[in-house]
Amino acid sequence: MPETVAARLETQMNGCRLRILIVGAGIAGATLAALLHRHGERPAIIERGSNTADGGYMLGLMPLGARVLHGLQLTEAYQRASVAVTTYEAFDRNGGLIRSYSLADLVDRFGSWRGVERGVLLSLLRDACGPICFETTVKDIIEREKSVTAIFPDGSRAGFDLIVGADGIHSSTRARIVPDDKVEEFDTGWGGFVMWSTPKNFAGGTYSELWSTGWGLGLYPVPGRVGMFLAGRDGKLSETDGEAYAAELEQRLAAGPFLDALQARDATIRPTYWRMVDYRSSIWSRGRVVLLGDAAAAFLPTAGVGASAAMDSAAALADELSRAESARMNFALELYEKRQRHRVEATEKNSRDLSKLMFVNSAPAAWARDKLMEFYSLKHLINDISKVMAGA
Ligand SMILES: Cc1cc2nc3c(=O)[nH]c(=O)nc-3n(C[C@H](O)[C@H](O)[C@H](O)COP(=O)(O)OP(=O)(O)OC[C@H]3O[C@@H](n4cnc5c(N)ncnc54)[C@H](O)[C@@H]3O)c2cc1C
Repeated sequence: MPETVAARLETQMNGCRLRILIVGAGIAGATLAALLHRHGERPAIIERGSNTADGGYMLGLMPLGARVLHGLQLTEAYQRASVAVTTYEAFDRNGGLIRSYSLADLVDRFGSWRGVERGVLLSLLRDACGPICFETTVKDIIEREKSVTAIFPDGSRAGFDLIVGADGIHSSTRARIVPDDKVEEFDTGWGGFVMWSTPKNFAGGTYSELWSTGWGLGLYPVPGRVGMFLAGRDGKLSETDGEAYAAELEQRLAAGPFLDALQARDATIRPTYWRMVDYRSSIWSRGRVVLLGDAAAAFLPTAGVGASAAMDSAAALADELSRAESARMNFALELYEKRQRHRVEATEKNSRDLSKLMFVNSAPAAWARDKLMEFYSLKHLINDISKVMAGA
């Protein structure tokens, strides 16, 4: 008889002090599990997907998140698997360079800013977080005062001191503990396709973005290739496919790095479409169930900070759990939320503010944005994020 999910999780938790179940081995869940391991805990962790994390999409990891990797002794492996980002270039609606921003001051103060494939970062984290129970989810949760029980799809069940919902933007854990009217949705009305490219002569350390009227294109290098985000209005893009949209954007672009990248796109990888929507839950925990990462507050990728915020929160939760006793779990969760909510919501707000600059639909607004960008410093663009990195 195959081993039940509950039995496999008991093996994962062998020798644990607190019985913790982490639902979702994404950026937040895998970071939390890895940190708990270093604190001597043995959390159980389950993941709906299979054990084949592909590249997925490109991530710009700020020091806010990357700092966590030092404590996991993953710094060297991470540096080998990523490229340093030193410059951000903003192009106007006609494809002309508005400004080139150096990230040197930020890097000097806070640490390096790097580009990495999501799947590569996940592999590093997952290797550090003990065994993961893949292709598994939670069917139901029964909350009691002194424990919480998870019921798995095979019918087996297990009791825990805490269940952590780290199951991403469309979190089913959140849906279980938070009423719909307590989850705010921010819909930009835009979306975009992620595609990959290997253009010749690409300057590896530069993030380049061109924002026009109703469409935009971003180039984000990782080792060996460039991730592209082909943005546009959701209503239009949901009716087309990535390849057709790439061909359409090619017609609009003059010679330069954006056209080069589009023409060198990798047609063997199917473009993935993402709606530019975020969510903010006003409730982070109920009883012995807590939300982490995108499950608590999901980010637009406009500032490239969602993964960093998820890792920062995972570090805070791991720290609080390392001092928590089961009988006072509520207190530990309260402290975690006090530490993180304002940081997460400030960075999420920054991402929303940037979306208003980027996702512009009228020609006059695009003209005004381009003018404004001539005067905007990097500090203006990521002011809230910089404050959070500085400890606000
Ligand atoms: C196109 C795009 C570009 C982005 N670019 C950046 C960037 O440059 N920089 C940055 O910092 N952030 C970026 N982000 C945001 C960042 O990826 C997220 O904020 C981050 O991954 C959040 O981590 P998470 O662990 O909460 O969610 P995820 O990483 O999405 O992980 C959730 C995990 O839970 C699993 N799961 C879901 N449901 C269940 C279930 N019911 N049971 C078990 N497992 C489940 C999923 O399979 C997944 O593995 C980008 C996002 C997108 C979409």
